[in-house]
Order: sequence, then structure tokens, then C-alpha cells
Amino acid sequence: MKNIVLFGPPGAGKGTQAEIIKQEYDLFHISTGDVFRFNIKNNTNLGLLAKGFMDKGELVPDQITIDMLSDVVEKNSHVNGFIFDGFPRTQSQAHALDSLLENFNTSISGMIALEVDDEILINRLLERGKDSGRADDSNREIIENRISEYYNKTAILKTYYQRKNCYYGVNGVGEIDEITSRIIDVMSKI
Ligand code: AMP
Repeated sequence: MKNIVLFGPPGAGKGTQAEIIKQEYDLFHISTGDVFRFNIKNNTNLGLLAKGFMDKGELVPDQITIDMLSDVVEKNSHVNGFIFDGFPRTQSQAHALDSLLENFNTSISGMIALEVDDEILINRLLERGKDSGRADDSNREIIENRISEYYNKTAILKTYYQRKNCYYGVNGVGEIDEITSRIIDVMSKI
């Protein structure tokens, strides 16, 4: 199995690139943000729980997120591999992911991190908010909160995967297809 963590701050382009890369390599794409939004739209208990945090630009608590992610992985364990988009976002999520994959005799092949400066991120998110309908993309304060959650809780995972020798930084600025080629370049080494 090839299992990729597509990493980077909000607005780095993870979702866009995951959609392309999953087709190239026949991987199963899991976006935790998308799963939460689906649940909010369908008024499930999980959606209700997650909404309060997402509306403020805060991370949803680990246990809720880990349980949800484990459920999706367990239901799709027959696939060629996964692209994890937006997960893990904390150290305990990273540990949980390792244990979960171990149960299926597999592991993370690589973390591909899209690197983009903060000012570009904020502008991209405000632009996306104009037609994505996402409340958390339309308000500068919420966006800044999401970025600070990233630096406070998520950025540390770079070290976690560097220690496992599977961290690959990719320049996330440029045209979509340029960035895809950089990712494909890295994928060939993983
Ligand atoms: P995203 O679509 O990845 O930008 O995520 C949107 C929001 O969903 C985040 O701001 C968090 O509130 C929540 N979320 C998504 N993934 C996670 C995660 N792995 N851990 C905690 N919260 C998450």
C-alpha cells in the first residue's frame, strides 16, 4: 500500500492536489474536513459536535476526529492506499494513525508538505470563500485562527515525519499543474 499524508496549512492546496494525485495513483482520498462538512450538512450527531469548533476555526477534539477517521479507514481497508488530507493535525492523531495502519500491516510511505507563505494563504482562502460557501473561509479572523491552530498544534508534525525519514517539502506556490508535477516527482521517490 502507498499511504500519503498531504500536509500543509489551510489554503495550501491539499484538497485540489489530492483530487489529482488520487487518480494518478489510484488511491483513496480521505479529507477529514470534507467528512465533517458532509456530517454537518446531514445533521448527524458527529456534524453537530464538529460544527461548533469548525465555525470558530478551531480543531475538532482528537478523539472525535480519530474515531471518525478510523471508521473510514476500516471500511476501506481493501484499497491500494490512502491520501490523508487534513489528517493528522496533532501529535496524538499521528500516533493513532500509525497504530491504525499497523493493524493492516502498512504504514505512512511519505508526508508531502505543501509550503506556502501566510499572506498568500489568507488571500487564497478569502478568494475561495467567495464561492465555496464555507463560513470558515469568508472571515479573516477565523482564517487567522485556523492558521494559528496550524502553527500551534500541527506544524510540529514536520519533525515527527522527518524523524521517520519520510518528510518531503514541496513548493506550493505556482500553477496547479506545476505543483502537481513537483508532487509526482516526490511520489516517484516514495
Ligand atoms: P479543512 O477542510 O481541512 O480545512 O478543515 C476544516 C476544519 O475541519 C478545520 O478547521 C477543523 O475545524 C476541522 N478539521 C479537519 N480535519 C481535522 C483534524 N484532523 N483534526 C481536527 N479538526 C479537523
